Amino acid sequence: MPLTIAIDYDDTFTKDPHLWNGFVSSALGRGIDVYIVTMRSPDQVGDLHKVAHTIPKDRVVFTALQAKRPYMRRHHSVHVDIWIDDSPQYVDNDHPALENVEMRWMDVSQFNSGYWRKS
Ligand SMILES: [Mg+2]
Repeated sequence: MPLTIAIDYDDTFTKDPHLWNGFVSSALGRGIDVYIVTMRSPDQVGDLHKVAHTIPKDRVVFTALQAKRPYMRRHHSVHVDIWIDDSPQYVDNDHPALENVEMRWMDVSQFNSGYWRKS
C-alpha cells in the first residue's frame, strides 16, 4: 500500500500555499497519495481548488464538521498514515458545532481565522 497523507486546509494549507503545493507535487511524484481533508462543507469550497491547485479535485474531502479519521474510513475506505493539521483534535473528534446549535462553524469571512464563534 502506498503512503497516504492528509493535509488540513484552513490555517494549515492556507498558512503557506507555496510550501504545501510544492510538498504535494513532490509527494505525488513519489507515488504518495495526498488528500486535503477539511471540516468545511462542500458548499463552502470557496477558492480552495485555486489555492491548493496541486491537489486533484477527487482528493479533496469535506467532512462537514465530522471527525476526520472515521469519516475517511467510513465514506472513502481510506486509511490515512500521516495527518498534517493545525487542529489535530479534529482528526478523531467531531467539531463541537456539530452537536451544539448555539455554535456556528466559521462563516466565509472567518475562514482561516482559526476560531468558531457563537451565533
Ligand atoms: Mg485547520
